[in-house]
Amino acid sequence: MRIAVAGFEHETNTFAPVKADYEAFRQAKAYPPLVRGDDMVEAIRGKNLTASGAITTLQAAGHEVVPLLWCMATPSAHVTEDAYERISDELTGLLEKAGPIDGVMLELHGAMVAEHVDDGEGELLARIRRVVGLSTPIAVALDLHANVTPAMVDLADYIEMYRYYPHIDMADTGKRTAEGLMRILETGVRPHKAFRQIDFLIPINGGCTDFGPAAELYLDILPAMIIDHELDGLCFATGFPHSDIADVGPSVIAFAASQEAADAAAAALADAVAAREAAFLPEFYEADECIRRAQAIAATAAKPVVVADTQDNPGGGGPGDTTGVLRALIDADARGAVIGAMIDPDTAAAAHAAGEGAIADFQIGGKRMPGDEPVRVTCRVLRARSDSWTGRGSMKRGLVVDLGKTALLETEPGGVRIVVASKPSQTADSSIFHHLGLDVENLPIIVVKSSVHFRADFTPLAHAILVATAPGPVVIDHHTLNYRKVRKGVRLMPRGG
Ligand SMILES: [Zn+2]
Repeated sequence: MRIAVAGFEHETNTFAPVKADYEAFRQAKAYPPLVRGDDMVEAIRGKNLTASGAITTLQAAGHEVVPLLWCMATPSAHVTEDAYERISDELTGLLEKAGPIDGVMLELHGAMVAEHVDDGEGELLARIRRVVGLSTPIAVALDLHANVTPAMVDLADYIEMYRYYPHIDMADTGKRTAEGLMRILETGVRPHKAFRQIDFLIPINGGCTDFGPAAELYLDILPAMIIDHELDGLCFATGFPHSDIADVGPSVIAFAASQEAADAAAAALADAVAAREAAFLPEFYEADECIRRAQAIAATAAKPVVVADTQDNPGGGGPGDTTGVLRALIDADARGAVIGAMIDPDTAAAAHAAGEGAIADFQIGGKRMPGDEPVRVTCRVLRARSDSWTGRGSMKRGLVVDLGKTALLETEPGGVRIVVASKPSQTADSSIFHHLGLDVENLPIIVVKSSVHFRADFTPLAHAILVATAPGPVVIDHHTLNYRKVRKGVRLMPRGG
């Protein structure tokens, strides 16, 4: 059989300050740039990505993969109308030219909002459906942060989602999606579907599958239900709360041989999620208090204390240059601590111009979020590099990371270290710190611009992990966001929050 494979991913924080234009999809950062055709297969081969896992699975089963295009931009505010239209036009154009196609496998995020389209994936699926018609099955792999809409469920014949946050199982999710598609192609039978939306938003920190209710739901309850209810598939999306759209929030989707079985499984999983509502509230501290706590712990710890600067997570739409936690480190005299990566191409360029060893005045971060201001501070340039490096940990291993000019600065006096980079990317592993010559295992405090993904690499090397809040768009307390479009009856935080 001939299976068309494509990827178009964006997680849209409608409250974030910077939009995703075409260039944001075209450039390579921690993931490959926009790639087409055979280049796509080469660029994503062996990577922890759903299209990669799907292609390997389809080819191993003897199917012909027809690669269309693949692209992903760092999470941010809306995808521009120009970028959305250009990429979806190109994708559907390639599909039209591909000749007879037996099935379609898509790597999507599920929380894409364009300037002119609230349901980015639903609209894309409708356009793809218009090309291939009703008889060609479409299977979709989604991030578990998907805000699934009724249109997405209607237009797809099969859906799978990650079951881990940190997303260590992206390639495996692609494999499961391809297997679902192949079942449909082999039997000629589409599974029945049931979709249930959950009526409260889950803070992203509360959805981590290392512990708590998400671990129980994803790793115990969901796999057991697939067996007990004899399902083709079962998905739980924790949703992405920072998208102000009607269908924001968690949901479940079940696929089964009968409508009754699908309905029963979706209801049972939705009930299991609802029963754990209050447990989804995460623990966190305001930046100054968080750094004081981190220092107290670090004073006697043999391993680093890792602090998540969660509200500026570039993986959730943060600009990556907010200054709240950096100021807290400087105010607390946190000598030896490091924060990174501040996404600040101006400071990176200034550090490179000054050169390694130089002492100069810098204006660090605070340039992209309204109300924030740069930290004006004298620093020594410890390292300045322009080359790429390789990701670490169970999520990012093997990925080539290219964030343009990078530098390691140290406040003078003060000894607080600041990692700066030039392209937006979440600090989801320790690789940038190693790249800049830091002895990561022996640092007292490491602050990362990440919410949860960093745990995949940092948990084994951390003595403790704390979550800090400073002004930024990836807010934990959704009550502080000005939602306008959320459907009626949805609680902005779990009960008790
Ligand atoms: Zn995600």
